[in-house]
Formats: sequence, C-alpha cells, structure tokens
Amino acid sequence: MPDTQTKILFPPPGPRSAQRVEQAMKRAEVIFDERNLRFTKLRQQVFEEIVAAHGSVGAYEILGRIAERGTRLAPISVYRALDALLEAGVIHRLESKNAFFACRRLHSDDFITGRRPLFLSCEKCGAVAEVDSDGIFDIVERVAKSAQFKPRVKFVEVTGTCPRCAEAEAEAHAVTAGAPAAPKHASKPAAERTLKNGASTKPRPASR
Ligand SMILES: [Zn+2]
Ligand SMILES: [Zn+2]
Repeated sequence: MPDTQTKILFPPPGPRSAQRVEQAMKRAEVIFDERNLRFTKLRQQVFEEIVAAHGSVGAYEILGRIAERGTRLAPISVYRALDALLEAGVIHRLESKNAFFACRRLHSDDFITGRRPLFLSCEKCGAVAEVDSDGIFDIVERVAKSAQFKPRVKFVEVTGTCPRCAEAEAEAHAVTAGAPAAPKHASKPAAERTLKNGASTKPRPASR
C-alpha cells in the first residue's frame, strides 16, 4: 500500500466526503475575506464542484454538473468565476488539460505559504498532488537568465502515475505475468515536465 504521506498527497478515488467539502468551503471563504474579494453564490457553486471532484475538472464539466443541480449558466459566467477563484488562489489550472483543481491548502494544514508548488498529475485517474518545488524554479530562473531569457514560468506540471494507480498496475501485471508484485516504491512518474511556455524537458539524473 502507498504510505500515509503519499495517500494524503493524492486524493482517494471517488468524490470527496461532504465533511471535507464543507471544510474546504469554509477555508476558501476565509481566504476570500482576507483578500477583500467576494465569495459570491456563483463562485461558491463553481468552487464546490471543483473541490468535490477527485481529479481536475474542465469548465464545461463544471457547467454540466451545475446544470444537473438545476442551475443553467452561460459558459462566460463559469469562466469569470474560475478567474476569481484562480485570483484568490483557492484553485489552480493544469495547463496541459485546461482543467482546474483545489489548492492543497484547502485540504491540509501543513501548507507552507510562499513556496511555489509543483503539480504532479496522474494520467490514469486524474488525481493531482501539489508538492513543494524544491528549488526547481531557481534552476529555471538561472538557466533562463544565462540565456538572457525572461521566464514566465508560474507552475511546473509533471505527468505520470500516482501511487494508487502504480500499485494497481503492478498488481494487475503480477496476476497476468504470474510474477511477484513490484516493490512499493517502484512508481516514479514517467516524468515529462511541461513548462508554462510549452517547452518540454526530459528528467535528468541528479548531479551534485
Ligand atoms: Zn495551491
Ligand atoms: Zn492515479
């Protein structure tokens, strides 16, 4: 089984519990208050759909879910609400999928502010984890500076396989091949880093 820490990082499959959604809503309200922004009914509705989802969700998916609950909205209204939520920092956007997910600080207490996050996005189940970038942005800035390039990188996304999906994959493989399951930490993301400007870099072995 994935250890407790990785389980916290990646949300479990299925919709979030009503209790977790409620907690996240309350935290978002505080953040909106602190920033003197209005957490309007529409923004709350859009945020609730994002926070209740297991993985990231696209604008039209959000629109559809709200419609199922009986409120018909114009796409532009949803986009405006999404902009406000992004501005408040309670959600983030995955560039690669043009989809949205709730900021980890809405779910966990150990959020460290002032650090830029790295998004780990599972290609199989859509779960997204937000982890500290651990100096990656410093490297990007330094390399860009040496090329006299002004970087516009805000976030770095890494796509791959989450611990749960990697575990399920290893088990399925073990059944078909009759081989023992892979060791529990064999799940490195098949990392492909997509930078904000669309450039892709292959991971290189760390040299210190
Ligand atoms: Zn965040
Ligand atoms: Zn997964």
